[in-house]
Amino acid sequence: MGKNYYEILGVSKSATQDEIKKAYRKLARKYHPDVNQNNKEAEIKFKEISEAYAVLSDPDKRREYDSVGHEAFTSSGQGYNFSDMNFDDLKNFRAGNFNFEDIFSDIFGGRTRQRAKEKKGEDLSYTMSLPFAVSINGGEYEINISRNVNCSKCHGEGGNTSQCPTCHGTGFINHKSGFFISQIPCKTCHGKGVILHSTCSACGGKGKILTNEKIKVKIPKGVDSGTNIRIPGKGNEGAYGAASGDLYIVTNIEKHPIFERQGYNIYVNVDIDMFEAALGDKITVPTPYGAINITIPAGAESGQLLRIKGKGIPHLNGSEIGDLYVRLHVKIPAIAMEKDRDILQEMRKRYSGNIRKQLLEKGKI
Ligand SMILES: [Zn+2]
Ligand SMILES: [Zn+2]
Repeated sequence: MGKNYYEILGVSKSATQDEIKKAYRKLARKYHPDVNQNNKEAEIKFKEISEAYAVLSDPDKRREYDSVGHEAFTSSGQGYNFSDMNFDDLKNFRAGNFNFEDIFSDIFGGRTRQRAKEKKGEDLSYTMSLPFAVSINGGEYEINISRNVNCSKCHGEGGNTSQCPTCHGTGFINHKSGFFISQIPCKTCHGKGVILHSTCSACGGKGKILTNEKIKVKIPKGVDSGTNIRIPGKGNEGAYGAASGDLYIVTNIEKHPIFERQGYNIYVNVDIDMFEAALGDKITVPTPYGAINITIPAGAESGQLLRIKGKGIPHLNGSEIGDLYVRLHVKIPAIAMEKDRDILQEMRKRYSGNIRKQLLEKGKI
């Protein structure tokens, strides 16, 4: 018993080409390997429906199949058997005008194969060292970049060219390997699709010229070291009207002498004296937005963090702002006057040692 391609696609023997196509589309969406990863059953099913579609969508093959049946294909070797192919082979399968790559891109969207010469320009990367303030305020800069643009003398052709006779300008040739046909880069033109007859004097045959260009870039608030900012179309120019690549600005934020960034928060170390720590006080602290007054609670400790909301780093591409954390460091001022030392001696009698009382209690075994 041969395979029943009509049953496999779930259509009647009298189905129109449109109905067959519709049925295949529906099933291909359901069983496509990309949506059924590591699902062997779906893969088998996908190959089966693809095989059925490859035969039934071709009027000649369908007629043959209808009159002789599946055996006609297996005995003559004229048919298809996709069960041993992997998905990449299947994608590259071509027979006449039939090819799965076009069918898949039609069903699933995505790009069909571009002609070899319509090649998108490469992306470029440019590293910028920026002061800390830019992560708070953003900034605008003018930078000098080197990018390849198409030679205006030869229009990017590299000289006088003609269409490659081997591949007819596609850059690819069909490669028959055993049962199926795949596409490989054309050996005559090395995938370019054109043959060069004379070399352009302006670009030396490269078709491109490296040029310096001044461009304005806007650096958004919130950037950190390693942030990528995409400037569309400012990479290398694409050949033959193809899109240019993009430029990626990679930012490197310089260290600030007192503000230390952690995510979108900032930490700043602030010294306070023992009187401010013991009794509490209002003090002025620096923030990236200007100095502000904060209250230190009585009994503050070294290492204690005081949070100041909304004085940190603005979120990249958002309206939120991180927080600023003041990290207290309690310092003891040098005691210069005899009178002060006496007062401290007096105080010591009342307080000294109390701090360790609990510890000593707990230490008794
Ligand atoms: Zn060629
Ligand atoms: Zn040129």
